[in-house]
Amino acid sequence: MRGVNLRIVFFFLDFMVLRLGFVRLKSSLFTIFADSNISINRNRKMERRVRVRFAPSPTGPLHIGGVRTALYNYLFAKKQGGDFILRIEDTDQTRFVEGAEDYIVEAFRWLGIKFDEGVGIGGEFGPYKQSERKDIYKSYALELVEKGMAYYAFDTPEELEEKRKEAESEKKTFQYDCKTRQGLRNSLSLSEEETQELIASGMPYVIRFRFPEDEMIEFDDLIRGHVKMNSSLLDDKVLYKSDGMPTYHLANIVDDHLMEISHVIRGEEWLPSCPLHVMLYRAFGWESTMPQFAHLPLLLKPEGSGKLSKRDGDRLGFPVFPMEWKDNEDVWAGFREDGFLPEAVINFVGLLGWNPGTEQEIFSLEELVEAFSIDRISKHGARFDLEKAKWFNHQYLQKLENASLTEVFLQDLKQRGIECDFAKAETIVGLIKERCSFAKELWDNGDYFFVAPESYAEKALKKRWKEGTSERMIEIVSHLRELEDDNWAQRAEDFLMDYIKENELNMGQIMNSIRLAVVGDTRGCSMLDIFAVLGKEESLRRISVAADRINL
Ligand code: GLU
Repeated sequence: MRGVNLRIVFFFLDFMVLRLGFVRLKSSLFTIFADSNISINRNRKMERRVRVRFAPSPTGPLHIGGVRTALYNYLFAKKQGGDFILRIEDTDQTRFVEGAEDYIVEAFRWLGIKFDEGVGIGGEFGPYKQSERKDIYKSYALELVEKGMAYYAFDTPEELEEKRKEAESEKKTFQYDCKTRQGLRNSLSLSEEETQELIASGMPYVIRFRFPEDEMIEFDDLIRGHVKMNSSLLDDKVLYKSDGMPTYHLANIVDDHLMEISHVIRGEEWLPSCPLHVMLYRAFGWESTMPQFAHLPLLLKPEGSGKLSKRDGDRLGFPVFPMEWKDNEDVWAGFREDGFLPEAVINFVGLLGWNPGTEQEIFSLEELVEAFSIDRISKHGARFDLEKAKWFNHQYLQKLENASLTEVFLQDLKQRGIECDFAKAETIVGLIKERCSFAKELWDNGDYFFVAPESYAEKALKKRWKEGTSERMIEIVSHLRELEDDNWAQRAEDFLMDYIKENELNMGQIMNSIRLAVVGDTRGCSMLDIFAVLGKEESLRRISVAADRINL
């Protein structure tokens, strides 16, 4: 009996001390030490300043769906003049992935999305990493036990597995809930003494939420509308684990409350957890300051059905991560490494499931902030469309200064062992940029400025080089050679126009043959521009070589 009383005293101390937040008491060792790191801000006046958070779990790289969630949170916060917070939810130690947190921080830096508070930034509601807030959560779990809204459960994983199997054999699904909990090993089915004895003996336990029976849980979602769920259908979720860590549900609610989060904007996959979250707010007596919820629709595969996964990216050859990610042997493509510009990614992702209600498609981040509203977020899944993503990149690439694109082009040329002065490269960039959606396509569209054709495209050759073309080209070369060097390209073009007219030739026939000779194919800029960049000598040399090589 004495043991029990003592335990109650320590329980009370534990509870009070933790909640005050300036000392931490470990109930098993009874050590007390200062912990000034944790500020709980309990008595802060609840003004409904808009405060939203992006709360990723560092279980791997950030999926493009996560980027969209963060972006919508950012847009919403900035539109309302509120705060945008980065909180790392790393309470599930079994799913922790080395490097994931740094990846997340770096991805947002690249994308140009800035947080006001959070991991790596700080702020008055810190720390912002849940593993550093570990000591906060237990008292809250205990508070609910004390109020009768949660309970200790001692069932071993083996016992639960047994129950699952039993249910399966009867073609049922086992759930730890209001109907089954009395038949399981927990502080509701055991006496107070038995419970205390088990705890004292060091028996591992979890703390589960006690859903009331047959109660309608209702809340309004800013996207989904009114949501209802009967509490009897829900399982008594674990809030606090035997490893001394809270589960996502408990830590998430406690932190959203302590960090004074006003709106929770997150993926649809969390909608089924929301009734539990609403009940937790009620259980803690925080309902009046409960955040408003907005559950975003799924990002769908390019085919239009099913959730977009990293495997889809692999299968169809496009990135689903903002930056490249390496795990063990596998390398997953990233938008950054694939040559997407961050502004294009933001614009593209911004319109995946939200529309401005106008025809406008090109939005800077600032313009998105200006135009954004939650009520224009679709309830339906948004199909990931790679072609559209490329289209956006094309638009943003055109906006880049030729000079900055030239720097990238020069690097590419250098790697190919090609020397080129800046002015020439810049001229070429100006000529071919319009044909490129990515900087890496500069080479594909401008290679012939540096490398003479080795062969000629077969189809074009058939169509554009007839009997007598070689002789005609030799004749044309001899005329073009006589033209003055100064402004030669223009003179050459003028000459060719007159020549075609005088000889009553087909314009396409002559110009296309010249293009084939100079480029090797039907593609490329205007012949005038190509002549201007290549110069008289090289242009004529290529035409002569073709006339020589192609014998029909
Ligand atoms: N840690 C959760 C996640 O990774 C956060 C969900 C939420 O925003 O509540 O998605």
